[in-house]
Amino acid sequence: MTTPRIYLSAPHMGGEELGFVNEAFETNWLSSVGPNLDAFEREIGERVGGHCAALASGTAAMHLGLRALGVGPGDDVLCPTLTFVASANPIVYLGARPVFVDSERESWNLDAALVAQHLEDAAKRGRLPKAVVVVHLFGQSADLDALEAACARFDVPILEDAAEALGTLYRGVQVGVRGRVGALSFNGNKIITTTGGGALVSRDEAIVQKTRFWATQARDPSIAYEHSELGYNYRMSNVLAGIGRGQLRVLDERVRQRRAIAFHYRDALADVDGLELMPQADWGLHTNWLSVFTVDPDRVGCDRTALIEALAAENIEARPVWKPMHTQALFADAPVLGGEVADDCFARGICLPSSSFLTDGDLSRVVDVIRERARR
Ligand SMILES: *Cc1c(COP(=O)(O)O)cnc(C)c1O
Repeated sequence: MTTPRIYLSAPHMGGEELGFVNEAFETNWLSSVGPNLDAFEREIGERVGGHCAALASGTAAMHLGLRALGVGPGDDVLCPTLTFVASANPIVYLGARPVFVDSERESWNLDAALVAQHLEDAAKRGRLPKAVVVVHLFGQSADLDALEAACARFDVPILEDAAEALGTLYRGVQVGVRGRVGALSFNGNKIITTTGGGALVSRDEAIVQKTRFWATQARDPSIAYEHSELGYNYRMSNVLAGIGRGQLRVLDERVRQRRAIAFHYRDALADVDGLELMPQADWGLHTNWLSVFTVDPDRVGCDRTALIEALAAENIEARPVWKPMHTQALFADAPVLGGEVADDCFARGICLPSSSFLTDGDLSRVVDVIRERARR
């Protein structure tokens, strides 16, 4: 293949990362304690308006966040069906059962009306879920006012899975700490990255302190190795926190770039009938972490799979939207409320290359392939 590969979403360093990494080497802070970690947690905390514990992954943050909410064996936890599997797996790690819920059309996120109805029924049966996982998908916030109202009525806490939503606003405010706990991800494909990493965020400092304790093997305060609780090795390294500090400095620029890419595709493909940018709900700022479109096969002349294959033939990586959890073999036994909206998003949704460093030339390559295939 002579043309360089265009990936779906690749890391994009800002330039200041290596300075912080070098500092860690020069001062020998090469473990899971150190000044970069402290500063990164402070800076993330300021960004989200809460406290932060930096962890090894977003999945670890989900795991400890659910544990902080008291989720355990036999509990139910509501979770959107349209999401990445890491939103749901930690529910199972804790021995609880996910109950999957469909999306609404405005943002493709958790349907507050379905949640409200389910909580009412569940309360009557005396089996309220222990928590509700709210995912902000592809960089767009869920309708937090409506979800919070539904959950507050029955005192069920919310965990915000904001792994795809750093930079995302709901009514002008960064998402993540509106619920009792939130999870962020700095995986290599996210809007900013520490190569791999995550964070638990909360306005409740006690939860964040407890999270750091669990994440470092739950060592009781004693010089001997004494343990009264189950812990994990989930802490972020001080070296990677240095990468995160550099990345945070360019987060706003990354948001502008990701949005510009989505709107570039939208405008350049405006005359391809049946190809549409995913909804941009009026309640927030959608970072368009991924540029997601829907394909109406009757009007475009081919389905999203044919577009993905045509792009692959030109060394361009595109993907379907997340495959809904209620259709996964892994969760064959889990209950689901609705599912038609999620199924439709999956059937028609395509994620186009969205790396923030893509050039106009790169975007033209993508646009040309889609035009060519749509016309056939
Ligand atoms: C990436 C992602 C996660 C997990 O984050 P990792 O850092 O990769 O463990 C969780 N939920 C969603 C919705 C994600 O996209």
